[in-house]
Amino acid sequence: MVSGNAKLDISHIRLSDRPLLVCDVDDVVLQFIDPFQLYLKSLGHEFLPRSFRLHGNVVSLADGLELEDQHVSQLILEFFEAQESWQTPIDPVVSTLERLSKSADILFLTAMPPQFSAHRRRLLDSVGLTFPLLASEQPKGPIVQALHGGRDLPVIFIDDMARNLHSVKEHVAECLLIHLMPNSPVHRFAPSAAEDIARARDWMHAAELINQHLATDTVKRVNPAA
Ligand SMILES: [Mg+2]
Repeated sequence: MVSGNAKLDISHIRLSDRPLLVCDVDDVVLQFIDPFQLYLKSLGHEFLPRSFRLHGNVVSLADGLELEDQHVSQLILEFFEAQESWQTPIDPVVSTLERLSKSADILFLTAMPPQFSAHRRRLLDSVGLTFPLLASEQPKGPIVQALHGGRDLPVIFIDDMARNLHSVKEHVAECLLIHLMPNSPVHRFAPSAAEDIARARDWMHAAELINQHLATDTVKRVNPAA
């Protein structure tokens, strides 16, 4: 069986009685598209932002020919293997999550083949992002549902991909969803998220939306009629 299809083990994740903030990693916490383009250039290839996909948009710098899908898939895997030499945090995610961690549990949910978890763990730890990490290529909605269960506590999910936000929306109705993506040429082709999903300009804005949500929830708990 392909490891990506195996049921994700979340039994080691211990949540406290606090709100839960689930963050995607690539292009939300760590830069992905920019360093991936530099990585491709270092190998004599180029990514052309012609649509919101990697496959079909990588060409050889030597002759301009499109790389086959299988080759692009292999390059993505090799990039994840080499991520510690290429990927850096998106500013100011480190200080923002540090502040948010005073009032919420934070968990990274990364859509990356699980065999690169140790590489990603080392990279996140090296920049002070020591929050728990789950790597899975399965839909994110059922994972967030399994993590949060029926807890009567706020839950928040941040991702740059509309399909992940929609998956969580479908499975965890009460979740605050935040669409956060880099202002890159390829993200201009990104499918837009449903209208009721909040769009954050950057991490400062995302923190404002989260703090507002947590404050509103506290008011409701103190005064359910509010
Ligand atoms: Mg992402």
